[in-house]
Amino acid sequence: MTDATPFRFEDTYARAVPALSLPWEAATAPDPVVRLLNADVAGELGVDPEALREPEGARLLTGTVPDGVTTYAQAYSGHQFGMYSPRLGDGRAVLLGEVIDAAGRRRDLHLKGSGRTPFARGGDGKAVLGPMLREYVMGEAMHALGIPTTRALAVTTTGEQVFRDGRMLPGAVLARVASSHLRVGTFQFAAATGGPPLVRDLADHAIARHHPGAADASNPYLDLFARVVRAQAELVARWMLVGFVHGVMNTDNMTISGETIDYGPCAFVDAADPAAVFSSIDHGGRYAYGQQPAVAQWNLARLAETLLPLVDTDEQAAVEAATGVLTAFAPAYDEAVSRGMAAKLGVAPGESTRALVTDLLPLLAEGRVDHTGFFRALAAGDARTLFPAGLTDRFDAWAARREALLRGGGTDGESVAAAMNRVNPVYIPRNHRVEEALEAAVGGDLDPVQRLVDAVSHPFDERPEYADLAGPAPADAMPHVTYCGT
Ligand code: AMP
Ligand code: MG
Repeated sequence: MTDATPFRFEDTYARAVPALSLPWEAATAPDPVVRLLNADVAGELGVDPEALREPEGARLLTGTVPDGVTTYAQAYSGHQFGMYSPRLGDGRAVLLGEVIDAAGRRRDLHLKGSGRTPFARGGDGKAVLGPMLREYVMGEAMHALGIPTTRALAVTTTGEQVFRDGRMLPGAVLARVASSHLRVGTFQFAAATGGPPLVRDLADHAIARHHPGAADASNPYLDLFARVVRAQAELVARWMLVGFVHGVMNTDNMTISGETIDYGPCAFVDAADPAAVFSSIDHGGRYAYGQQPAVAQWNLARLAETLLPLVDTDEQAAVEAATGVLTAFAPAYDEAVSRGMAAKLGVAPGESTRALVTDLLPLLAEGRVDHTGFFRALAAGDARTLFPAGLTDRFDAWAARREALLRGGGTDGESVAAAMNRVNPVYIPRNHRVEEALEAAVGGDLDPVQRLVDAVSHPFDERPEYADLAGPAPADAMPHVTYCGT
């Protein structure tokens, strides 16, 4: 037990849908030490980061809470690689509680790697340092890129060694904040175990928490679905624009809020290949870079199925209404990509820009041109050098069409370049740099990961001291694979 916490925890989720979580305590960490602490997130939560570094803080960040605080393991189901698992849930995680942050927003404070729970199935309930740091780095990068995401508050080693992938590795707990942990899989669990009354309670909680405007709609549950569809279309479009591959888009890893969640075998592409896969277990490429919009839509159809009885008592009418909403995913996604691509290219959105993008993407893929580097080079006027000799003519023709659009826009070149550089990052967490940094951290040196976090936290500001973090992996580097033993 600890004496106090700097947080005032609330538990609206556990009260709203008691059937969807179990009170559960984290395992006690024998020797908790905070390894990485996010002062920015601590500030948002209104707590002193230095206090969290103290032994008392480290105990709290591994789940040792004062008397009177109840922590919970949340229940959910999920389609994993298309196969339905009726009972997943927090197998190695607990919800410490909900915190009202300094801006008045309700945030979940959640721990991952905090020991076995009744949902652990065969798992050991643990997490190890590398993957928890990966989640920290990726979340910070996404946040700094303006992409909705959960964020790490801290990574704390437990003092235990944990067996993973044939090695003993330092055990660790990730403390993260999320606007909630409501997942598509939460709705699936509710539908399967409690039917429409439980789904209704959950949907009401989701509306109050994330999509309050839906409460005023003539059909609130259909409108909730429409809002989740729009949020996910926007989110996946943002992933595609920066070249992010989530890697495990199971329905239990998709939020109702529209935040990115559960960074496992995820990565940013160097060259934007639609078939790019980084997960060692994704043999069929189900969650490849180019598959993500289709998978999001598939997952949203699973969410719709749980909501049907609330949408209309007539099943046929409910299916028609939900299908109508789901068909809005594609145009919403296309619109978000077009808008984002126009900004990346420094041109106004419109039909000509769409055609420009349609012709650019295969050209980049064919030339295996670095996705992130291309847009910065385009602003600097030296993108041509990134193309192999056989493709420079095609690039020149494409660039001339873009030039014509720029002239039509009437803005001067310098301000176009400046605007492009505000949306096109210099620094993303490149696979090979992430791997290096995590390996160093496991060996006891946290400096590289701290440095990487610093670079990706200000992704648009070119800084000479981080030049080594800007480029793609050397062409002869081993293809990167992230193993699922997270
Ligand atoms: P993830 O792949 O991290 O999204 O997890 C999928 C499911 O497996 C969730 O229900 C997790 O709680 C559970 N899980 C993953 N790793 C472990 C572990 N080491 N021990 C217990 N449960 C786990
Ligand atoms: Mg998960």
